[in-house]
Amino acid sequence: MRWEARQLNGADDSALLPLAGLVRSVRTPEFDGVTFHEVLCRSALNRVPAASSMPFAWTINTTRGCLHRCTYCFARRTHEYLDLDSGQDFDTQIVVKTNVVEVLRKELARPSWQREHVALGTNSDPYMRAEGRYRLMPGIIRALAESGTPFSVLTKGPLLKRDLPLLVEAARDVDVSVAVSLALVDPELQQRVEPGTPAPRARLDLVRAITDAGLECSVLAMPILPWLTDSEEQLDALFAALGAAGASDVTVGALHLRPGAREWFLAWLEREHPALVPRYRRLYAGGSYAPAEYRTWLGERAGRARRRHGFDRRPPRRWARSPAGAPAASAALEPPPAVSVPSQPALF
Ligand code: SF4
Repeated sequence: MRWEARQLNGADDSALLPLAGLVRSVRTPEFDGVTFHEVLCRSALNRVPAASSMPFAWTINTTRGCLHRCTYCFARRTHEYLDLDSGQDFDTQIVVKTNVVEVLRKELARPSWQREHVALGTNSDPYMRAEGRYRLMPGIIRALAESGTPFSVLTKGPLLKRDLPLLVEAARDVDVSVAVSLALVDPELQQRVEPGTPAPRARLDLVRAITDAGLECSVLAMPILPWLTDSEEQLDALFAALGAAGASDVTVGALHLRPGAREWFLAWLEREHPALVPRYRRLYAGGSYAPAEYRTWLGERAGRARRRHGFDRRPPRRWARSPAGAPAASAALEPPPAVSVPSQPALF
């Protein structure tokens, strides 16, 4: 990839951000309107609070902010910790931890490291287009595998295909889970609701490429958007496409509107589907989660699509917090559920 980065001078406000470890802020013609803030991070592994419902104890995020620009992304608020906003800045002010591999190797070498499962792709997408330039993931995959650390990768980015040989190699040594995020197959709606993401067809091809490489590929069909992507026909089309692509399992989840994402998504809804705004406000009047009745209803509807397309006959593979020192694989395999509709098992 051509990378004619232009270092910003002090006259540009974005270059003056109070970012710890900031080395330089750059723009490049390939990413119009985007500024990359390259930082030297002090830690690579982030511990997930014990009280969290996330099924993993550690995460790595190579960037903060995400070029995929999903209107519903509930990692948006994390940008406010950087004195950036959770809307436009999250989409265009991307913090890149350029030394993440080096720092990770040091952390993995500590005698105290227990080789617990590490999740990648929780607060940003590790295979967003900029990874083609920064190439951080190959080093991370190698470091985790060589240290005996099981890990999972969740992405919307077909760029993961570049690293499939490495992931296959890593899977010989440690438990590796790969998941693709895809919750709708209508390319027009996808372009409006998650404008920076690769098309559904590209993600279905990614699922196929992962399974062709010999790895299982589960799919996070999240978020399902009330009245926009939750019809019987839409769910059927989604499960049919995922079945044809070879997905090993599908986890469905309703939209979650946490502060940060809530304002940004509702502003989008106001522009694109104003008639739906009062219905969404009523549905999410009680908080960030859709009401239990809606989730149960969605679960039953998704369960029918799941069965129609044979997913109830495929053993699901799940991420799980593994006890210290134990391989995640044994904990990761659970009996097939009738339908899988958690309130929000992943960060997005
Ligand atoms: S939902 Fe995921 S892919 Fe979309 S903007 Fe957020 S981190 Fe990026």
